[in-house]
Amino acid sequence: MTATEDLIASAEAHSAHNYHPLPVVVASAQGAWMTDVEGRRYLDMLAGYSALNFGHGNPRLIEAATEQLGRVTLTSRAFHHDRFAEFCARLARLCGKEMVLPMNTGAEAVETAVKTARKWGYRVKGVPGGRARIVVAANNFHGRTTTIVSFSTDPEARADYGPYTPGFDIVPFGDLGALRDAVTEDTVAVLIEPVQGEAGVLVPPPGYLPGVRELTRERGVLFVADEIQSGLGRTGRTFACEHEDVVPDVYLLGKALGGGVVPVSAVVADADVLGVFRPGEHGSTFGGNPLACAVGLEVVAMLETGEFQQRATELGEHLHAELGLLAGSGKVVEVRGRGLWAGVDIDPSHGTGREISEKLMERGVLVKDTHGSTIRIAPPLVISKEDLDWGLDQLRAVLG
Ligand SMILES: *Cc1c(COP(=O)(O)O)cnc(C)c1O
Repeated sequence: MTATEDLIASAEAHSAHNYHPLPVVVASAQGAWMTDVEGRRYLDMLAGYSALNFGHGNPRLIEAATEQLGRVTLTSRAFHHDRFAEFCARLARLCGKEMVLPMNTGAEAVETAVKTARKWGYRVKGVPGGRARIVVAANNFHGRTTTIVSFSTDPEARADYGPYTPGFDIVPFGDLGALRDAVTEDTVAVLIEPVQGEAGVLVPPPGYLPGVRELTRERGVLFVADEIQSGLGRTGRTFACEHEDVVPDVYLLGKALGGGVVPVSAVVADADVLGVFRPGEHGSTFGGNPLACAVGLEVVAMLETGEFQQRATELGEHLHAELGLLAGSGKVVEVRGRGLWAGVDIDPSHGTGREISEKLMERGVLVKDTHGSTIRIAPPLVISKEDLDWGLDQLRAVLG
């Protein structure tokens, strides 16, 4: 047995099989490159589902984390600590909002948004007790908790986890008419991803996000944008909503906010929304801890300059031009996305998304399939143009 086979067999024997990883065992990584236990190098074109927007081992993030590791890492929110105020203030400013509620994982940010919207609905909007409803989109991905999978339309993510949390209405993504019909006096929020990542990098039709903004404003409903995957530079802007000049009431952030170093998530909104919480009504032992704040603050500082957004725009134009040529030649059926983010539907005659991913792995490129014959491409924003081109060469080679 090779070291790789040995480690995979052991992982399979001793861990739950809730994932089906590609057969590569990573030992170290730097920038856009990972090295496996046998010394083979791979170009990372997934970037931890955009948690690694700034690349592996980003020197600024490692330095911020290392410095903080030597000072204090956890206080709990029972006490103040000296990194909290600046992180919240700078993140709020980046978002153009007044307040931040820090959590850890994306799912916790979504759960926090559900609680925020319901409490806001009862306390501010005046919805009768127990009647608040939240409208979500079909094919959403917002995380894995029992409440969140209650409003998933993916049978794999949802089956056998009932009884499900009530209070959600599901409408087709991108359909304003359906959304308008679904909103009632009891609706407290519309929760959507501005670009649906797990669904295959689906960009809604132009005008949809502005339409959601207008409708929610008219009807006194919170517009909650789950920018956990689409936000923080990936699409070429700080937020995907910016492409259509839309400002939601609530941003949900995660993934890249922790720089691939620690889990950091946040709900960001104005005081008339996040002000609904009183002490004891919500919380998290690790949320807003000093290490998370130190890393998150450095992430915010990196985004303030706009350089990563610019890079995602430029490399993204190149990526989509190249993928467009492949689509023109008939080797791929469709390409979607924005910035340095693409969902590529492969002609099924070339194999499933999984088979394509395995062939790319053999050529030193790591991507992840989603739903049948779709692969998604989302390299770290620090990838060089040469490396991106090399990765695309491997895709062309695999597609013959
Ligand atoms: C990944 C993701 C989540 C969940 O984040 P976790 O940190 O895995 O809990 C929620 N929403 C979107 C859009 C995501 O991509």
